[in-house]
Amino acid sequence: MSKVKKKIKSIKIDLDKCNGCRACEVICSAFHANPKYSSNNPARSRIRMIRDPLRDVYVPVYAGEYTPAECMGRDKYVIDGKEYDECGFCRASCPSRDAFKEPDSGLPLKCDMCEDDPAQEKPLCVQWCLNDALIYDEREEEVEEEVKLEDMEIGLESLVDKYGLEKIADTVARMSTSKKG
Ligand code: SF4
Ligand code: SF4
Repeated sequence: MSKVKKKIKSIKIDLDKCNGCRACEVICSAFHANPKYSSNNPARSRIRMIRDPLRDVYVPVYAGEYTPAECMGRDKYVIDGKEYDECGFCRASCPSRDAFKEPDSGLPLKCDMCEDDPAQEKPLCVQWCLNDALIYDEREEEVEEEVKLEDMEIGLESLVDKYGLEKIADTVARMSTSKKG
């Protein structure tokens, strides 16, 4: 497989600088509103501020991958003697909780680094974080060339996930028989 250059984008989070202002949530939800900037609702944000002012805890967490089933284990963090909520810092959009789901449709949310055309100079949450708690970085890495799945393959994969390979194969066989007939 051949190697290609890939741009890696990352956001470093400096917890010592975050004061829980939630500007990142506001701009992310506004940027992803339809039409853009027509509304802002932090429940639609792809970054969530996990906040516990009494314990002086402010942790920005980015929305990561969608998972169709909750995982078998649970994690719980104890930092400086303070115990945090179960799964509190997990990035997944998961059936066990409401985090990182579009509030009306329930569809999963995932940070897309503010993909835009023309491209943003930096992700919006980074630009709006006046405390420099979010630090953006871009670098190039050589990676194996990805084999891109065609739209049809992606659609078929999700159907197979939903109904199982056997049922899909049976349906295709039935359809091809009736077409021939
Ligand atoms: S990078 Fe963009 S999409 Fe991701 S959380 Fe920040 S504002 Fe939202
Ligand atoms: S904008 Fe910056 S300081 Fe404010 S909550 Fe987000 S990460 Fe924290």
